[in-house]
Amino acid sequence: MIPYGKQHINKDDIDSVIEVLNSDFLTQGPIVPKFEEAISSYCKSGYGVAVTSATAGLHIACLALDLKKGDLVWTSPNSFVASANCAIYCGADIDFVDIDPHSHNISVDALKEKLEEAEKNGSLPDILIPVHLSGLPCDMKEIYQLSQKYGFKIIEDASHAIGSKYSIKKNYSVGNCMYSDITVFSFHPVKIITTGEGGLCVTKNKDLSNKMQKLKSHGITRYQNNTQDTGIEKWNYAQDIIGFNYRMTDIQAALGLSQLKRLDDFISMRNIIAKFYWDNLKNLPIDLPINQDDVLSSFHLFILKLNKNSKKSRNDLYKFLTDNGIGVNFHYIPIYRHPAYEKLGFKKDYCREAEIYFERALSIPIFPNLSEDDLYKIVNSIRLFFE
Ligand SMILES: *Cc1c(COP(=O)(O)O)cnc(C)c1O
Repeated sequence: MIPYGKQHINKDDIDSVIEVLNSDFLTQGPIVPKFEEAISSYCKSGYGVAVTSATAGLHIACLALDLKKGDLVWTSPNSFVASANCAIYCGADIDFVDIDPHSHNISVDALKEKLEEAEKNGSLPDILIPVHLSGLPCDMKEIYQLSQKYGFKIIEDASHAIGSKYSIKKNYSVGNCMYSDITVFSFHPVKIITTGEGGLCVTKNKDLSNKMQKLKSHGITRYQNNTQDTGIEKWNYAQDIIGFNYRMTDIQAALGLSQLKRLDDFISMRNIIAKFYWDNLKNLPIDLPINQDDVLSSFHLFILKLNKNSKKSRNDLYKFLTDNGIGVNFHYIPIYRHPAYEKLGFKKDYCREAEIYFERALSIPIFPNLSEDDLYKIVNSIRLFFE
């Protein structure tokens, strides 16, 4: 079976993990700060906070922005549940903005309309969480301008998008936080680079970074100053806020640092595979991902969408490819369709475009080590299905 995504591990990765295992610190050692620094310099954000997962990162990002009970978060329905769960963790309410039928990211037009209405009803969101689906950046400049007009904060869910660029010419990497308060990456093995499990929040704001550092480590402050200055003993510490243990280990960070060296190669390889699909899946009743000028997608996913000319269904294609040993997948069931969200009152058809997408989309395999044989097998199988 060809999987839809797979990690790329080499000897350097393995050696760097072993080095930490032989060192004094498996966690809270020197490698995590090194990894935070490496990622934040890669995307030119300023500060990085490594955590146990993107899910944990989204949670403390919301808390750092003071999200609380009764507040409101908006996100895209076309994402993994974690993009919305973080609001619920904080006791806030959640709502969804429909997607753009071409990019499949949050629709700026739908967002504008919903904001105008919310302003009239006094129900503007406190935080918006745009998701860069498959690694294609959302229209962040426009979204940022709307945030200035309507006064909401922005957390980018960039779980798919480390290595993507808002602008190739200007070299604006996703995670530079020029359009958001905080950007969150995931390092789950199917994502672009991996730490096993893991995530990282980047921000330009020192206070937000300090707050997240504290939240990920129980909310505890250690008194580092020497006793003579402060009269406080070195053993002393205080928990000022209720935090969590969301700390990444140094073992994971070492893997991440080693993977980061190959990030740009991974993005090139993924883009080469995307180009192969574009070239070899022409003249079929399917829409291929859009290619935006001056934007670099990490191509975490390659998503096909059966169009109106297709007499066959997505589910038929899913079955045909799976039966032929090709690991296809679906990203994503609209979040509000999950039973836990239906319990909150959301109904089928809440977002029209997300529903149409849900009927027609399918992710085909894409990852750095996908062989040429596999690639031909995939495109030939898809062509055969439509014959
Ligand atoms: C994978 C993913 C997450 C969660 O990442 P974890 O690191 O597994 O917690 C959140 N949002 C999106 C869009 C994802 O794809």
